[in-house]
Amino acid sequence: MGVIREIQMIVKNETRCILCVRKAIHEEFCEFHFEALESLRTHFQVWRSSYGEITWYDYLNRLQEIKHTGKWVKDVIEIELKKLKKE
Ligand SMILES: [Zn+2]
Repeated sequence: MGVIREIQMIVKNETRCILCVRKAIHEEFCEFHFEALESLRTHFQVWRSSYGEITWYDYLNRLQEIKHTGKWVKDVIEIELKKLKKE
């Protein structure tokens, strides 16, 4: 087996972020998308304590409508909503 072929196999086996081409670091996300997910989760707890019970699904839907929501966060919201719709 040639060296190039071996390198290709390594690259292929490396886990990529579900949302971009970067390397996945935590769960199925790269560092930027994972950071966005973490901030979503943190804010979810804040929302629940100020607005009362809200589901993860409703929370994501509401955030998606807010214009100020950042691009990384929007990417994560989209994929999370897709997952929830499949279930
Ligand atoms: Zn990513």
